[in-house]
Amino acid sequence: MLSRRTVPSLCLHRSRLAKARTLSSRASGILSSLDIPTSAEIPGVYDGQWKGTGDIMESVCPTTGEVLARVQSATPTELHVALEKSKEAYHYLRTIPAPRRGELLRQIREALAAKRDALGALVSLEMGKIKTEGIGEVQEFVDICDYAVGLSRMMNGRVVASERPGHTILEVPNPLGVVGVLTAFNFPVAVYGWNFSLSFAAGNATLWKPSPSTPLCSIAVTKIVASVLERNGLPGAVSALVTGGKDVGEAVVESRDVNLVSFTGSEAVGRVVGKAVQSRFGKSILELGGNNAAIVMPDADLSLAVPAVFFGAVGTAGQRCTSTRRLYLHRDIAPKFLDALQKLYATVRVGDPLTNGTLLGPLHTRAAVGIYSDAVQRLRETGAEILTGGLRYEEGTLRQGNFVQPTIAVPKSTDPKDTIWSTETFAPILNTAVFDDLAQAIEFNNDVPQGLSSSLWTRDLRNVGKWIGPEGSDTGIVNVNVGTSGAEIGAAFGGNKSTGWGRESGGDAWKQYVRWSACTINFSDAAPLAQGVEFSA
Ligand code: NAD
Repeated sequence: MLSRRTVPSLCLHRSRLAKARTLSSRASGILSSLDIPTSAEIPGVYDGQWKGTGDIMESVCPTTGEVLARVQSATPTELHVALEKSKEAYHYLRTIPAPRRGELLRQIREALAAKRDALGALVSLEMGKIKTEGIGEVQEFVDICDYAVGLSRMMNGRVVASERPGHTILEVPNPLGVVGVLTAFNFPVAVYGWNFSLSFAAGNATLWKPSPSTPLCSIAVTKIVASVLERNGLPGAVSALVTGGKDVGEAVVESRDVNLVSFTGSEAVGRVVGKAVQSRFGKSILELGGNNAAIVMPDADLSLAVPAVFFGAVGTAGQRCTSTRRLYLHRDIAPKFLDALQKLYATVRVGDPLTNGTLLGPLHTRAAVGIYSDAVQRLRETGAEILTGGLRYEEGTLRQGNFVQPTIAVPKSTDPKDTIWSTETFAPILNTAVFDDLAQAIEFNNDVPQGLSSSLWTRDLRNVGKWIGPEGSDTGIVNVNVGTSGAEIGAAFGGNKSTGWGRESGGDAWKQYVRWSACTINFSDAAPLAQGVEFSA
């Protein structure tokens, strides 16, 4: 039973709380620009009304350690009510023609664009990614709204040729119901955006359970979306929000009122979520961990490949699902490549992600620093050579935040099944190994449990054909002369194998947010059976 207490993993300390009463101007300016109160506790539940009397969650700035806010999460009763209201909201939304829903999305797009920079700054403040990436994340939401506006006029079914005279078969998409969206900390705006936009265009209500460590981003987004819904007389629960921890997440996943669970997070939690949804025959989209490799052939243009690997491995402090974690270098260019890469690593500007020019912000939590340190220690214990990095930044104000050095290691073992190679460590650690031919590199690439993103650097068309073909990379995102991270919204995004086989955003992803019916219509004066079956008395 949930009580009115603090979520333990987020450790409420009285002294830090006291600091929250006098919020820094750095933080208060951003919160005020998004209409988020800078004092008192903030309601973290929205179902048409703002409320929340459950666990208190603290939002902690990863750069300074400052407590940004205390958020009141959902009790089981509040979650139940939010689900009921979401269902009612869905019943209303499904009667609105899809192009009209598109017009509402267009207004939401405008409202988001108007707050893009402020919301981007909040992403940097609360999650820790650098400013241009924070703004880029909001831009992604804006872009997917544009996409969904167009889609609202193109969510077409099909007419299928019938074998029976005077019959026609239609494949018809209809709205699905309530879509539960559970999100990870590292994309606290965009992942909801991908789901909400398609789901809304399809005629569903969404109920969002964000990461417990980024509640402010979810509150700010919901306020913007809700303002448009309310202005247009729509029930707010079309985009409900329930903040909370694991128990709130579990309750959403287990609820039979949630027709589709779209889960983004770790493999470990995804495994639990996938089984729970399957056990009640619900639908799920799973977007789980990645363990992405870049492969550099001897003919690659290193002036492009080196900066791309640098961004892939160091960008977002290695906290993208698509971050480059494994680097396979052809023997002929390995020394030259590593030399150039280390030179770039030496130039990285570390600091406050809100400061222009910073390239490396903090890890999101103190716990993540521990995971980073453990991974580095394991590398050392197993005989890896650490080419650069491996330590926390302790100088000056960096000590207050979760700053770690981007690390390049050459593990002793090259066996992809070795834990070092087969596990996603959500931190800026790049493991590298040498290969002799493309077939070997592809084997390295594929022989891990995850299958999200991969990139090949080459100018040779024969390599490209092999890489994208049946003997090639088995990941959901297969790039050529493009890094592993930084996908556009137009193509379906997602991974294979233990990354969960989910697809979101562009392509055919929208087809998961509807229920499909095959409708056979007989407009003849006879009622023949299929396959010529006779059954007359
Ligand atoms: P996480 O798995 O710890 O948490 C994700 C969400 O699940 C959170 O909202 C959390 O509160 C909730 N949750 C936790 N336990 C639950 C349970 N038993 N039942 C239901 N919900 C539960 O992930 P994280 O640390 O926030 O995010 C990092 C991970 O997400 C990385 O593995 C990263 O690769 C992955 N990720 C994947 C993608 C993708 O598209 N493939 C995108 C972003 C992040």
